[in-house]
Amino acid sequence: MIENPVPWPNGAKCACAITFDMDADSLIHVARPDDSFNRLYPITMGRYGPTVAIPRILKTYERLGIKQSFFIPGWCLEHYPDAVEAILKGGHEIGHHGWIHEDPIATAGNQREWIEKALQSHERICGLRPRGYRAPVYNVTQEVVDLLIEHGFKYDSSLMADDIPYLMKTPNGELYEAPVHWGTDDWPPFAHYDEIGYMMPVRAPSQGLAGFWEEFEAHYEAGGFFMLIVHPFLTGRLARWRLVEQWLEQTMKHRSVWFAPLEEIIGHVAARREAGTYEPRIETLPYFEGPVS
Ligand SMILES: [Zn+2]
Repeated sequence: MIENPVPWPNGAKCACAITFDMDADSLIHVARPDDSFNRLYPITMGRYGPTVAIPRILKTYERLGIKQSFFIPGWCLEHYPDAVEAILKGGHEIGHHGWIHEDPIATAGNQREWIEKALQSHERICGLRPRGYRAPVYNVTQEVVDLLIEHGFKYDSSLMADDIPYLMKTPNGELYEAPVHWGTDDWPPFAHYDEIGYMMPVRAPSQGLAGFWEEFEAHYEAGGFFMLIVHPFLTGRLARWRLVEQWLEQTMKHRSVWFAPLEEIIGHVAARREAGTYEPRIETLPYFEGPVS
């Protein structure tokens, strides 16, 4: 059970978001900056996302009439404008995902520069500021939280302190969290990427996705929030997306579920809080002022 389930719109039993992180080939350029330009295999593995998977995913969403969220590094916005245009044309949300998928821990102390550089790309290419943020490799720092608050972000979606959206309060303000976890991320079952130190045995599509659907059933029963954190170059592959598409069709037909972009889900929680009809759980930050010995 969930202690304080959110009353979802129209009596829906569960809010659902299939969130895609469109990293494309940014990953290899960060991992191997000296010679990534000449590593065509990982470049093509990444390019498959914006060029082949995104059109496929968008077609499914259009047919089913749903809007969802995509997190895209600024560098990828710049390099794959056609995919970005198609995502925006479909009415979907694009969130901030760093500049070139730099790890905020590796660039700690300089995050203002990276976050603001990516913000400029969002404004120039998408014509609007992102409302949500997901940290590359989930590595949010206190510096990042404070920068997001300063820049007027509504939510982060990288942290793991609850099953359902919650509110982070810091001395500098507030930020909602749409929580992630590894059980609903496609990296463990499907990523095989030696160059970035990730060598998981690739699971069969049905096996790799099975854990996701078990997570959904638990959230559905508890009135929760089911979110996938997936990647076009992994879950947007032909056989995997075929199964996700079938799951979407069945779920929309037989279950009482609210599929929406994260900005709408968080917006709903915020509106209920303002109306005094729901109180999200609060996490007070910073957790620590310095090294824990
Ligand atoms: Zn990513």
